[in-house]
Formats: sequence, C-alpha cells, structure tokens
Amino acid sequence: MKIGTPKEIADGEARVAMTPASATELQKLGHDCLIEAGAGRAAGFEDAAYEAAGVTVLKSAAKVWSEADVIAKVRPPTETEAKRLKEGKTLVSFFYPGSNEAQMKTVSKTGATVVAMDMVPRISRAQKMDALSSMANIAGYRAVIEAGTNFGRFFTGQVTAAGKVPPAKVLVVGAGVAGLAAIGTATSLGAIVYAFDVRPEVSEQIESMGAEFVFLDFEDSQDSSASGGYAAPSSPEFQEKQLAKFREMAPDIDIVITTALIPNRDAPVLWTKDMVEAMKPGSVIIDLAAERGGNCELTVKDEKIVSDNGVTIVGYTDLPSRMAAQSSTLYATNIRHLMTDLTPEKDGVIDHDMEDDVIRGATVTHGGEVTYPPPKPKVA
Ligand code: NAD
Repeated sequence: MKIGTPKEIADGEARVAMTPASATELQKLGHDCLIEAGAGRAAGFEDAAYEAAGVTVLKSAAKVWSEADVIAKVRPPTETEAKRLKEGKTLVSFFYPGSNEAQMKTVSKTGATVVAMDMVPRISRAQKMDALSSMANIAGYRAVIEAGTNFGRFFTGQVTAAGKVPPAKVLVVGAGVAGLAAIGTATSLGAIVYAFDVRPEVSEQIESMGAEFVFLDFEDSQDSSASGGYAAPSSPEFQEKQLAKFREMAPDIDIVITTALIPNRDAPVLWTKDMVEAMKPGSVIIDLAAERGGNCELTVKDEKIVSDNGVTIVGYTDLPSRMAAQSSTLYATNIRHLMTDLTPEKDGVIDHDMEDDVIRGATVTHGGEVTYPPPKPKVA
C-alpha cells in the first residue's frame, strides 16, 4: 500500500505525521511512502532527508490524497481534506469523534475508513500507539519550559557570592501523563514541587518523582469517584476543601501548572480569580486545560495575559507543536506501530481486523458505517 502524508494546514501547526525514520520502518512493512513537498520542514525534516529514506516527494497535497491508500496526518481533516476521502482509502489522524460527529457521518458515507489516534484504547498492549500520552508528555515538559521563560528567577535555590536565592515553588494540579511529566521536569530543574490529584493512587508516583503530594483534610483523603483510572467530578464538599487548600497555598506558590481534566466535560475551575490576586507579582500560571475552558478562571485560550497584580497566565493549546521535532518523532512512531498491527504479514497488505480490540477501538468509520463509539475492550 501507499502511505502518504500531506502538509498540515491548520494555522500554526508545525508537526508532521511521517518522519524519515518512521518512513524507513513503514517500508520494512512492505509499504511505499509519499510525502508532500515541505511537509516536514517546520519540524526540521527536509525533503532531501525523506528522499534519502526512500520516500517519494510529491508537489501537491492533492497528489498525496489521490495517490495514497493510507493518509497519515496529525490534525483532524478540514472539510476540503475530508472530501478527498474515498472508498478504499484509510485516514489515520487525530479525529475527536465525540465532537466531530457531522464530519464522521459524511466521511462514513464515502466508504473510507478513519482510524482516530485519540481513540486508541489506553490498554497496556496499545501503549506504543498511544499518541494522546506521547503528546501529553511533551505538553507537560513544555509547560515547565514556558513557565521558566516567563518566570524571572531560577527554579533551583542557589547560594551565590551576591546572595542566597530561594528555590521556586511549583504546584502541579492534576497528575495524569502531562502532570507527571511537568513534575519530573520541574524537580529536575531544582524546584520544590507540590502536586495534587483527586485520584489518591497517584500519590506514590508523585512522591517517587521527588514532589510532595498535597493531602486534603477530607474523610476519604482524596475524592476518587473515578472510573477506569479517570477522574469523575468532585462532590461540592470535596471541591470546597480543595479550593480552600489552594487559597491557603496561593501566596507562597511561584508557578502553577494545571492539567486537571475529566473525560467528556469542561475543565473544572480550580484556580480562581482571588487565588491569582493572592499570588506574588512575577508568578506564572500555565493552564494546560485551556482547550477545554481552563482550570484557571482568568485563562484566555491560546493567549498569554498578565493580571493586574503581575501574574502571567499562559493558555497556549499548541505546546506539542511548539516542540515539533520531538512531537513529530513520537507521533510518527505511534503511527508506525499502528501500521505494524495493521500489516501483520509485513507484506504491504492491510488487514483491518475489526476483531482486534485496539484496531476496533480506534476505528470510527469503516465499510460505509460509523463505528463509533466502540464496544468496551475485552483485554486490559
Ligand atoms: P487526563 O488528561 O484526563 O486528566 C489529567 C489529570 O487530572 C488526571 O490525573 C485526573 O485525575 C486529574 N484531575 C481531574 N479532576 C481533578 C481535580 N479536580 N483536581 C485535581 N486533579 C484532577 O488524564 P491522563 O493523563 O489522560 O491520564 C488519566 C488516566 O489514564 C491515568 O490513570 C493514567 O494512568 C491512565 N493512562 C493509561 C495509559 C495506558 O495504560 N496506556 C496511558 C495513559 C494514561
């Protein structure tokens, strides 16, 4: 089969779904690789590097879409891109089917198959294809870097000839994949890191990374009315305790990194206006939940603002794209692993096995039908 990658056309998107290294591996599966000229440039991969890896560089996106059997992309397709899908073609990209239903229906009618990278089940066997985790890991790391560039001080404490510098105090709210990456990065820079999550089971992971778990004085220690490892909305009593704790911490914290999300809901507001007002001038908030409304009451999506009392609040939603070389490498590898599962005989022939939990879970249109939502996976 021919696997092709067009240049991403979303504003500011620098990632690319195929790298020269992933193309080399895809060819070992018996596939031919195509790429639109310039598709990898913003991520640091020049056409010549693709050519050297045996990839055919095509002049236009239209050519890639018409010649490829499998189109590998990062962002969900635009309307124009979706119109290029036809029976016999497979699109592999982020798709967010829950908020993209109209397009999913339109695409299903063409007979094309869509494999949504955001729907890969989060089971052990599929970790190598888990693009949500790959991107969350980068976002967590980058959140600390963004915090550092906006914070006018060291992370680590120092004793210098010119005086003693105290270490920065960082609070990470939400210790999922992104939060844990942020904790690891901030502790490695020498900050004092506190972390909070409603799931009590993460306290060990937080502490093993050198951060301090923030316990609440609540009868069930933390409120873990969670399902399948994910958080559920907190009770009003719990939320009141949580906000009271944050309010107490706010004057002493230099950097807040918020990552708290609950599946299929708006982000909970956990850092309120009065908490921002209680922070010291020069403090920084990086809100990784900005896409879903933000964990900080003052966050403006995709913008950096400074509050009246001098607190910088960053609501960027493109942190993985700001590290396009790294995120493209990991994303392209996730796709390559998915293609390996789709090519069991390594003979360039795709076997779209709808009995396979991972393939089934990620497939949102197939054979002229919408196949989302999938049944619950059988294997953990
Ligand atoms: P996420 O991005 O959905 O949420 C981020 C974090 O916010 C979660 O840890 C959640 O508990 C926390 N949160 C929600 N409400 C909060 C609140 N009010 N206050 C503080 N924190 C709050 O999470 P994620 O990074 O996608 O990971 C969620 C789960 O999925 C974890 O259990 C993780 O281990 C699991 N996971 C499994 C796999 C795998 O097995 N392949 C891969 C990735 C993640």
